[in-house]
Amino acid sequence: MTNSQHSTDVILIGAGVMSSTLGVLLKELAPDWNMTVFEKLSNAGEESSNEWNNAGTGHAALCELNYTSEKPDGSMDISKAIKINEQFQVSMQFWSYLVSQKLIESPQEFIKALPHMSMVQGQANVDFLKKRFKALSDNPLFKGMEFSEDPEKLMEWIPLMMKDRPVEDRIAATKIDTGTDVNFGALTHKMFDHLEGLGVDMHYNHSVTDLKRTSAGLWEVKVRNLESGTTETHTAKFVFIGGGGGSLHLLQKSGIPEGKHIGGFPVSGIFMACNNPDVVEQHHAKVYGKAKNGAPPMSVPHLDTRFIENQKMLLFGPFAGFSPKFLKHGSVMDLFTSVKADNLVTMLAAGAKNMSLTKYLIQQVMLSKEQRMNDLRDFIPNAKSEDWDLVIAGQRVQVIKDTEAGGKGTLQFGTEVISAEDGSIAALLGASPGASTAVHVMLDVINRCFPERMQEWDAKIKEMVPSYGQFLMNNQELLDHVHATTAEVLELQDPNQTSGKHLLKQA
Ligand SMILES: Cc1cc2nc3c(=O)[nH]c(=O)nc-3n(C[C@H](O)[C@H](O)[C@H](O)COP(=O)(O)OP(=O)(O)OC[C@H]3O[C@@H](n4cnc5c(N)ncnc54)[C@H](O)[C@@H]3O)c2cc1C
Repeated sequence: MTNSQHSTDVILIGAGVMSSTLGVLLKELAPDWNMTVFEKLSNAGEESSNEWNNAGTGHAALCELNYTSEKPDGSMDISKAIKINEQFQVSMQFWSYLVSQKLIESPQEFIKALPHMSMVQGQANVDFLKKRFKALSDNPLFKGMEFSEDPEKLMEWIPLMMKDRPVEDRIAATKIDTGTDVNFGALTHKMFDHLEGLGVDMHYNHSVTDLKRTSAGLWEVKVRNLESGTTETHTAKFVFIGGGGGSLHLLQKSGIPEGKHIGGFPVSGIFMACNNPDVVEQHHAKVYGKAKNGAPPMSVPHLDTRFIENQKMLLFGPFAGFSPKFLKHGSVMDLFTSVKADNLVTMLAAGAKNMSLTKYLIQQVMLSKEQRMNDLRDFIPNAKSEDWDLVIAGQRVQVIKDTEAGGKGTLQFGTEVISAEDGSIAALLGASPGASTAVHVMLDVINRCFPERMQEWDAKIKEMVPSYGQFLMNNQELLDHVHATTAEVLELQDPNQTSGKHLLKQA
């Protein structure tokens, strides 16, 4: 075993969409900084960011019912939906900047326009959807949303879902044509290709095994070369832990006090993919339903047209499941080894509080294919088992921490940036709303870790994200400009004039 020593300005751990986004942002802001990336797998975007491992929804709260809730007085709380939508507009602007500056090419390979719909059944759910529609359609961010309970209209929107549906079911849907399907795997590759072209040192098959702060205030990172078996030591002024499910273990190794009393709980995802091209061709939307009672928000069922490997596809899910691994390519010991003296009480409290979630996940794992088909038949009444195959998706590690509102061991469903007080290291934990909000989250990392540079970088950030620091909701002129330019630069076709077949030909 040999040992070698290298030093750089920035180390990015993990080659997923988060590290690639941060890398590109930093290279635009500080082109002279040297950057090194370590990825333990043999390629970029192979874990959660891979197109088969996530749902590819450009989350903008256009269809996800869990981002709106009814308040005790019966009114609709849309604050979370507004927040997610604003964050997604930040990503859209940054991706447009990358394309317009020719830093990445062929936006059709990573983003496509696709109607986003919500569909519900039963009186109470229909009333909820109508109320949600009224609250959202008054807001400029959700302009163009339509609502219908009319079976003929619904047949026009979602023929596959309406065919052979019993007429006595009360059903309603909303539809908005400005939704997107995003291939986060392809986007990750494009951003890393760009970084490599700028001379960023990419090291695949390199696993980071330890991190420690040196007396000079740098970070010393121990890296195992999985091909040669050697261990290298790299030092950097700034480290980003973008290891996805692997981030918690690395954060714990860093020893920073901000990383204490935090745990993780893995939830796996399973999709069903349609193997019958005739069925695939009959659907052209992402249609989100309502989560079943007791189900966590990340297991809201949806039937999605997807564009993967240059083909139009149809996926249903995700079904949740339990595996102790924190990464799809992780170890069955991950959950066990994440329990440390400082988070033991937090983890035990979470275990006691979330018995019903654990029970739900175990039930989900035990589902037979026919039971999964029955869930799918809520969406496609005449779905045939032989047309659908199971696909194992990525792992989402939900953050567990002690909060004022929830007490000890509260399960969080969002993303959390944890950074050291001196800004020399930051980690991203959690998975939702995930890749869609990568640019907003990575700008947050930059803001926390380089506060002294923000004034100098402000103009460049605004060039990349014109709405930075503003709410588009309150600036109609800028919102219209952002919508028009992102649609044009990212080549998002108007689905009213573009049939699914046409998109397929282009895919
Ligand atoms: C089932 C499912 C559905 C989802 N659906 C959506 C969706 O529709 N829309 C959306 O926006 N988001 C969605 N997400 C979330 C989204 O996929 C993630 O938020 C995003 O991909 C996370 O990116 P990342 O770069 O943090 O992690 P990852 O893509 O997981 O990358 C982390 C990388 O770090 C590497 N790594 C880990 N440990 C080490 C180490 N010690 N040394 C070196 N390398 C290491 C891993 O190998 C991996 O390549 C979904 C996720 C899942 C699981």
